[in-house]
Amino acid sequence: MASSGRLTRILCSLQIHAISSNSGAKLACSTLQQTKRNYSASDTTQNQYDLVIVGGGIVGTATAQELATRHPQLKLAILEKENDLAGHQSGHNSGVIHAGIYYVPGSLKAKLCVKGMEMAYKYCDKHQIPYKKCGKLIVATEPEELPRLDVLMERGLKNNVRDIRMVGPEQIKEIEPNCVGLKAIHSPHTGIVDWGLVTKYYGKEFEKRGGKIYTNYKVDKFINKTESKEGSTGGLTNTVEIHGSSPQNPVVSCRYVVTCGGLHSDRLAEKSGCNPEPKIVPFRGEYLLLARDKCNLVNGNIYPVPDPRFPFLGVHFTPRMDGSVWLGPNAVLAFKREGYGYTQFSLSDFMDAVSFRGLRKLAIKHLGYGIKEMYKGIYIRAQVRQLQKFVPSLRPEDVTRGPSGVRAQALDRDGKLVDDFVFDSGSGDLGSRVLHVRNAPSPAATSSLAIAEMVADRVEQQFKL
Ligand SMILES: Cc1cc2nc3c(=O)[nH]c(=O)nc-3n(C[C@H](O)[C@H](O)[C@H](O)COP(=O)(O)OP(=O)(O)OC[C@H]3O[C@@H](n4cnc5c(N)ncnc54)[C@H](O)[C@@H]3O)c2cc1C
Repeated sequence: MASSGRLTRILCSLQIHAISSNSGAKLACSTLQQTKRNYSASDTTQNQYDLVIVGGGIVGTATAQELATRHPQLKLAILEKENDLAGHQSGHNSGVIHAGIYYVPGSLKAKLCVKGMEMAYKYCDKHQIPYKKCGKLIVATEPEELPRLDVLMERGLKNNVRDIRMVGPEQIKEIEPNCVGLKAIHSPHTGIVDWGLVTKYYGKEFEKRGGKIYTNYKVDKFINKTESKEGSTGGLTNTVEIHGSSPQNPVVSCRYVVTCGGLHSDRLAEKSGCNPEPKIVPFRGEYLLLARDKCNLVNGNIYPVPDPRFPFLGVHFTPRMDGSVWLGPNAVLAFKREGYGYTQFSLSDFMDAVSFRGLRKLAIKHLGYGIKEMYKGIYIRAQVRQLQKFVPSLRPEDVTRGPSGVRAQALDRDGKLVDDFVFDSGSGDLGSRVLHVRNAPSPAATSSLAIAEMVADRVEQQFKL
């Protein structure tokens, strides 16, 4: 953004011209970019940006990196409320590089996961980020699961997932000697990586391209500023002023905002005058840890056939990059948006959730499932029993309680879990300058580079960059 008021006026009047005049748009835009490029070289104004990304998770940093690569002349910043990147979902997940089997053909999840996986492997190769292509089995252990496994296979093929095949009990044993099952889908390109580390690479690349990252900056308010500019051709300029929740946070101003707020995406949307729904409901996923001397029980990922009523993939065996193996996660309603333990409770988050009609409807519909998940969370043996269906030699004494993550699950007012990725904007001077990533659940880490391309396309289109 222009450091001198005069230059800002010239830029903004040129931009207004670009938007209002179709014939002159191309010329005006290129003039704008040229002027900005010249201007950036002598930029001394702090805390003023062309575009700000709120949220330093994997989606926010990937988007920031993509925009900085495409538009080196723009001044960009990330605002993150924690003291480091990837403090929430992006640093608390299963670490699986998904291949794209599960998702409804044609959905954003299906398209962006398949593309995102290829992009993630290329990115990791380029930046020498360690990963393992250890593969995955989705195993049916009961006859009634077989038709659902066939449906999954069809979906995987429709989604163009590479090299998946159906295998029988003998081949299951060849791939995973300790696993039993009637039939399984084998996905050789599924892998594992530390998504928190990947997020930090995205952040570093963003900074290398001139982007600025503010940590410990919790966005509290967006204010639209409309100023009439003397000297301009009668035009008005609009900027978004962002205020943090701490007095130490400087006021940051920018022309456009993209929010990638994960567990707070609904609240950020509401703060900018956009639709508060879909609402985010936090579901905690608790993992068990396999004893070190038992980690050789599995070679790769072993997953159940998922319950089609829920977007979560079910309790699975997942090797980690550090050589450990995580089992889980379950899915229980969290009493705090970022509550990683049973005892963590926030009255405001709790009241916010239970006063939402969508959650009440969901709770009534799936009360039995919810109670079972809580029971499995409390009694490790119940979760181990479920895992023994796949690896019968697993014993309760082989596991201990492990870490947990909290999923940001979007829910509509009818109690329907929103399955696909959701992006939206509001209207008016403020709302139309903000683009929100509203629902980016699993496999959004895998899909992050593909999501970033899509968000950058929308930013260019909507904000005429
Ligand atoms: C238990 C679990 C297992 C998963 N397993 C996998 C997997 O194996 N593979 C896969 O691909 N995906 C997986 N996922 C999904 C994946 O982790 C998420 O989809 C992805 O991390 C979402 O990234 P994000 O950037 O949208 O959100 P987040 O990582 O949550 O980032 C949002 C950021 O916004 C910040 N923020 C929020 N409000 C504000 C504010 N007001 N001001 C400033 N900053 C703010 C937060 O502090 C946070 O850092 C899993 C998720 C969970 C929870």
